[in-house]
Amino acid sequence: MIGLVDCQSFYCSCERAFRPDLMDTPIIVLSNNDHWIIALNPEAKALGLKRGLRFKDSRSIIDNNNVVFFSSNYTLYNDISWRVMETLRDLSPKVEIYSIDEAFIDLSGFKNLKAYGDTIRNTIERQTRIPTTIGIASTKSLAKVAQRLAKQKDGSLILDMPDVISSALAATPVKDLWGVGSSYAKKLEFAGVRTAADFIKIPGWIVKKEMTSVGWMLQRELKGIPMADLTVDVNPRKGIISARQFRSPVRDLHIINEAISYYAELAVEKLRKQVCTANSVTISLETFGRVRHVSSEIHPTDYLPDIIAVAKTLLKKIYSSEFEYWRTTIFLFGIEPVSGRQIKFFDDNNSKKRYLIKRVDEINDKYGQHTIHPCASEFREDWGMRRNYLSPNYTTRMKDFPIAHIF
Ligand SMILES: [Mg+2]
Repeated sequence: MIGLVDCQSFYCSCERAFRPDLMDTPIIVLSNNDHWIIALNPEAKALGLKRGLRFKDSRSIIDNNNVVFFSSNYTLYNDISWRVMETLRDLSPKVEIYSIDEAFIDLSGFKNLKAYGDTIRNTIERQTRIPTTIGIASTKSLAKVAQRLAKQKDGSLILDMPDVISSALAATPVKDLWGVGSSYAKKLEFAGVRTAADFIKIPGWIVKKEMTSVGWMLQRELKGIPMADLTVDVNPRKGIISARQFRSPVRDLHIINEAISYYAELAVEKLRKQVCTANSVTISLETFGRVRHVSSEIHPTDYLPDIIAVAKTLLKKIYSSEFEYWRTTIFLFGIEPVSGRQIKFFDDNNSKKRYLIKRVDEINDKYGQHTIHPCASEFREDWGMRRNYLSPNYTTRMKDFPIAHIF
């Protein structure tokens, strides 16, 4: 069986993790330069606020209802995300990170999945203060169906019995299925296919013809047949992940550098296709039984050399010649559409950025590695992104660590 663990209102939950005073408070998180609302918790949604609304235009609702607002703090979100994923690694032999706030976990061989699902959710909440939901089923696509419905129930749902599976499929609109984009959803609805239960009744060959093999694999998975190579693009706003296992374990930094550059290229290709920029890069390196990760915030960019440069610098921080590595991953987060304003901003600053990176390299070459390093805060201040409502980096910057006073 496979579990899909999803963090609830992740960015808002991260902001609340160190602010117990914000329990039950409406919270919103803003985009780069504090332009838009990009995340909100249910309390904020209930006031009529929505993702994509302009911050400025929403001020009356925000001020009249004491909505608490934050600039996006990807340093904090990435770090808490990793704490959640590390907690999951202690609870399952195999964890596949799907986005900043979702992961698939292998639960085969576990007895009493209801109790174990609760253990997983309680452990994550205790260790990271992030509330989660979990869906458990025999395939990834069914686990996703279960997780979506778990949100409406008490946080967990297991699809193990045929009648439970049938009613879950009947309660899932096709537009909410994993990998069914809005144009396919419209087409299906037009043909009278409204729910996942309707969808699995269509003959397989028709699905393959009309929706390519991705649709066909989705259909098989919904029937309970696991498709090992099923990959569905991560929701753009949740990040882009590019990773592969090495054919045999690798120790040579040079090779890992090449691999990470290649995966950065793939990730940036996806980013450009979505006409988006990223403002956070995370790199991970896995040895057997041990994963290290490191993140950095950057000025929103889709400029490959910048992302590779950051990725390589990050790699140096976590690489050690003591280990052989079997997997490396690059994650791009803080994905936002390229706006006209940003393009102009980039053009104006391109030469400045190149100059900066060159000087940093020169100084590091001369005075030693990490003399100047792309710490999120330093880069952020240098590049002048407007983030007037930024929360402290509670978990990654010494001066921001919470202090407990004992009397
Ligand atoms: Mg979530």
